[in-house]
Amino acid sequence: MSGSLFIVAAPSGAGKTSLVRALVKQDPHVRLSVSHTTRTARAGEADGKDYFFVSQDIFSKMRDAGEFLESATVFDNSYGTSAAAVHHQLHAGNDVILEIDWQGAQQVRKNFPDSSSIFILPPSKQALEQRLRGRGQDDEATISRRMRDAESEMSHYVEFDYLIVNDDFDHALASLTAIVVASRHKLAVQQSNYSTLLADLLA
Ligand code: GDP
Ligand code: ADP
Ligand code: 5GP
Repeated sequence: MSGSLFIVAAPSGAGKTSLVRALVKQDPHVRLSVSHTTRTARAGEADGKDYFFVSQDIFSKMRDAGEFLESATVFDNSYGTSAAAVHHQLHAGNDVILEIDWQGAQQVRKNFPDSSSIFILPPSKQALEQRLRGRGQDDEATISRRMRDAESEMSHYVEFDYLIVNDDFDHALASLTAIVVASRHKLAVQQSNYSTLLADLLA
């Protein structure tokens, strides 16, 4: 049995981490891939839980050794997804969520054509800025940089299979959950899950 792969992307502050963490909390078969990054940890972020925080030197060595499923430079920092961890979870039958940027999404789509990709938008530019500020974890320069890059990041929404506007949190979470549950009922997935039953029913 093999799980499904989901890509979630959004401009910084749109709420992707909150939504994905809430999804993982309510569904034991969904695992969140923990990325490697060269950015410094925010207050409250734990190494190995939110990210694996590594130096540029270690990151480059890992990338050159082919250890990343995808990697990209975002806001001047390097980010990458561990290939081994994702394959391990998929083979164990778990669904895996990648919280990655649009560049990484393009790379993953190429290698996993069966993956589903979801883009999350804020309800307005003002709300995006309020959320970035309200999170209270980035300095002014970082917030300005992220607001400046938000528009070009958001222009990539057309490359994704699903679009969620995260206005009311619970409503957005219900939409994300519905997408994951629907994907589990795709014919090819169910044929694999229920091979014995199908053989029995049709014998
Ligand atoms: P956040 O967007 O406010 O949560 O800020 P982060 O610094 O955590 O992430 C910045 C950007 O890097 C976001 O667009 C993430 O989706 C992206 N990102 C995080 N991990 C990865 C990864 O493993 N690969 C790629 N390609 N992008 C990543
Ligand atoms: P991202 O991972 O996309 O950068 P976060 O999940 O860190 O975004 O969310 C940014 C901030 O916005 C957080 O403080 C979070 O609590 C808040 N937030 C998330 N979703 C909503 C929502 N629907 N309404 C209001 N605030 C939200
Ligand atoms: P985080 O630390 O990931 O930003 O969010 C902490 C928790 O707050 C998450 O589990 C999420 O469910 C919840 N949360 C974040 N933003 C909102 C919001 O705007 N509305 C509601 N109802 N819950 C939120």
